[in-house]
Amino acid sequence: MGLFKDEVTGRTVLDDGMAGLEHNVLTGAVEDLVNWSRARSTWPATFGLACCAIEMMATGAAHYDMARYGMEVFRASPRQADLMIVAGRVSQKMAPVLRTIYDQMAEPKWVISMGVCASSGGMFNNYALVQGVDQVVPVDVYAPGCPPGPETLLHAIFTLHENIQNGEILRRRDQTGRGAAIEVAQRDGQPTPVSIGRS
Ligand code: SF4
Repeated sequence: MGLFKDEVTGRTVLDDGMAGLEHNVLTGAVEDLVNWSRARSTWPATFGLACCAIEMMATGAAHYDMARYGMEVFRASPRQADLMIVAGRVSQKMAPVLRTIYDQMAEPKWVISMGVCASSGGMFNNYALVQGVDQVVPVDVYAPGCPPGPETLLHAIFTLHENIQNGEILRRRDQTGRGAAIEVAQRDGQPTPVSIGRS
């Protein structure tokens, strides 16, 4: 692996994974392929906290059918999941459980904060609730609303996919040591960039 050793840091591709490879025609294409595959096979953990989870379930059901985007099934084990959708307010009591689930998920993993309660505590400005789930896990995409409907959640998911594929999420994380923190607009009731309810 000496071929790929960074003379300055001494790190090799074993330390840095795909990012440790110098870019050329071959490795560049491989990295694109890996990112493309990751973007099209994000598997959500089965995890809902409050009313927002009902909208998340609707997004997985027949009409919106997010299985069309490689998200075939919500995984019952965090070890088989790489996407956490924080759907609902996070109580102080639940926060360590949420973090444990996140820690058990497969790398690389992604987080969508769904709804104002998960993102900021929402209308629950009190001691019992976490005032923003980014205090517990790194958030990559924020979906606004109370609740965000399936169109908004799908918009957040497409944004996540796009930024996994172009490498932006991992770039931002490297720069800040936090989640990518991309904010999307609410899209409920508006035309969506994809046909909904049809294959
Ligand atoms: S944002 Fe609204 S719908 Fe979602 S958990 Fe909070 S109160 Fe419920």
